[in-house]
Amino acid sequence: MSPFPRPAERAPDNLDRPRHWSADAECKGEVTAVFYPAPGENSAYAKSICWRCPVRVECLTHALEWPENFGVFGGLDEKERRELIADARRLAAKQREKETSGAAS
Ligand code: SF4
Repeated sequence: MSPFPRPAERAPDNLDRPRHWSADAECKGEVTAVFYPAPGENSAYAKSICWRCPVRVECLTHALEWPENFGVFGGLDEKERRELIADARRLAAKQREKETSGAAS
């Protein structure tokens, strides 16, 4: 079992704080191990749960910001999240390059 709690397993909301997004997680009650497939194991079942989850965007944002380095969060596994970050960095670099070359002309 992973040392990382799934969003739905984190501390429940108390009345003094606004309701946390994980309270609406579709993975509540699911076996945690499903979201941490071993290398080479299929993550399709976990992703199918995520894709119908109403807080998928919040979960993915959390996983990217924390960052969560293992497991399926927001419908993406760790490799897909790394690719997403790399794509965003490439896009930002291209944008900066475009702005710099535009400023020089
Ligand atoms: S997106 Fe997936 S891991 Fe995240 S809260 Fe929803 S069901 Fe759970």
